[in-house]
Amino acid sequence: MSDSKRVLIVGGVAGGATCAARLRRLDENARILVFERGPHVSVATCGLPYWIGDVIQEEGKLLQATPEVFARNFNIEVRAAHEVTAIDRTRAEIEVRELDSGRLYREPYDALVLAPGAMPIRPALPGMDLPGIFALRSLTDSQRIREWIASRAPRRAVIAGAGFIGLEMAENLTRRGLKVTVAEALPQVLPALDPEMAEPLGRHLETHRVDLRLGDAVAGFESASGGSLVVLTASGQRLAADLVLLAMGVRPEARLAEAAGLEIGTTGGIRVDEQMRTCDPKIWAVGDAVEVRDLVTGAWRLAPLAGLAHRQARVAADAICGRSSRFRGAQATAACGVFGMTAALTGATEKSLRCAGISAYEVAYLHPGDHAGYYPGATPVHLKLIFTRPEGRLLGAQAVGEQGAEKRIDVLSMATQQGATVFDLEQAEFCYAPQFGSAKDPVNLAGMTAANILRGDLEPAPWSQLRRAGALLVDVREPHEFAADHIEGALNLPLSQLRRRFEELPRDREIWLYCEVGQRSYYALRFLKQKGFNVRSLLGGYQTYWGLYP
Ligand code: FAD
Repeated sequence: MSDSKRVLIVGGVAGGATCAARLRRLDENARILVFERGPHVSVATCGLPYWIGDVIQEEGKLLQATPEVFARNFNIEVRAAHEVTAIDRTRAEIEVRELDSGRLYREPYDALVLAPGAMPIRPALPGMDLPGIFALRSLTDSQRIREWIASRAPRRAVIAGAGFIGLEMAENLTRRGLKVTVAEALPQVLPALDPEMAEPLGRHLETHRVDLRLGDAVAGFESASGGSLVVLTASGQRLAADLVLLAMGVRPEARLAEAAGLEIGTTGGIRVDEQMRTCDPKIWAVGDAVEVRDLVTGAWRLAPLAGLAHRQARVAADAICGRSSRFRGAQATAACGVFGMTAALTGATEKSLRCAGISAYEVAYLHPGDHAGYYPGATPVHLKLIFTRPEGRLLGAQAVGEQGAEKRIDVLSMATQQGATVFDLEQAEFCYAPQFGSAKDPVNLAGMTAANILRGDLEPAPWSQLRRAGALLVDVREPHEFAADHIEGALNLPLSQLRRRFEELPRDREIWLYCEVGQRSYYALRFLKQKGFNVRSLLGGYQTYWGLYP
């Protein structure tokens, strides 16, 4: 890079700030200017729900760097409260508005990085602008919500949307003493997950007094007496609220790029190449504003996640400095914690595969303990693995549990990114002591279950056919478990009695076995198969049944 090269960056939070700092580490001579519309830069946005919930108690902890720190430590000029209003690509200049004075001015660039993020979706609903209705994107938004709580002492909150931010806020507003209702258009919480995997999370929220209104979209707002609000839903419900949070997802902030004639993809995100370069060789874009290649399906998609913004910012800085770094694409690996339960996922879900028109895959369900059952405190990790047949290549995984779900998803994320197969998971080596895991870690078990399917040792019965099948359903749990609850129409023949009673089973009919989590039914399947029975197993057993048929 030549001595006087000017790199301008639009947006000073995750992607913008990271890109600026990386650029400086690579090039001491560049002139680096960051323009940020808001009053703060380098905000730890992901911490905002926890500051609202008083888990994080000092606002200052959310500011990872200030303009002064950028100037002093990195010789980077940060102009907060400066909005970039246009890009003149012919002259390689941007137009900037100094928000305090209204002054408009221009700045030339040799390289321009767009990191403007994404904005909360605000559909044009009646009453949308009433006081007490908030969205959460910036530190300023969270200050407003905190002030509302402090000055109005609200008792009831309605959250529109049960995605990551909606659920984190449900927990944090509950923590602040509000009675929370979550209204979600889809019939499940956390729509990023497959519905049966979201089921335990939904039940967990309800045990923490969150009122879930699933399959019922927010349709409008009215003001009510005493400054409170009524939230109207599509089904005609009227929900009383003193505070409303809109958490209906985000949309890439691509207006500036679009107005400058840069290519925008079909998803609405800015289209970039593997080096985060837009269709203009002098302009890069990173973070929530861009669309990314899905590593599993190869399709363009949006993936507004902090880790991706940081990785992309590093690639863009490298590319501007002439390095060959490349962004590999995204699996959208994400986690969400609510009231002590974690849901995490990586790669494809069945929903996303169906959307992409992909039907050639296999699924394994299991519910192992997060650590050895004999060591106190073990809790189940509900795990779903999706993989190709016959190769066993990993396509995606989802995990929900009170402990260890995110740890397994991180491992599976790395494995997926490296193109690993379920046979690699069988052989994977993990650290183990009873309080951390099991000699066969849930990830090993997932690999073994999937590999058993691919080798023909374990023939799965399709859960989707449960109601239609002509097969005989056999519950191999103990009689007291069967008596407590079972799948309608099932016969009880416990594994403990199977070896002396197996001749009671028909040989001319397919038998579908299940137990609590899939382990005993696998043992029973292996025995019956060797005795010549036509037998399959309902993977994940009764616990999967509950997710699928709540
Ligand atoms: P941002 O960090 O949003 O920064 C964009 C900045 O650009 C903004 O400050 C904006 O004011 C500025 N800007 C826009 N246009 C202009 C302009 N024309 N001129 C000047 N400035 C402009 N992700 C996770 O992976 N895990 C989490 O737990 C998580 N939690 C989250 C919680 C909340 C409440 C929110 C809102 C997001 C969360 N995210 C999380 C998402 C994560 O914060 C984003 O993926 C990340 O911040 C994106 O970085 P970015 O640089 O693209 O955009």
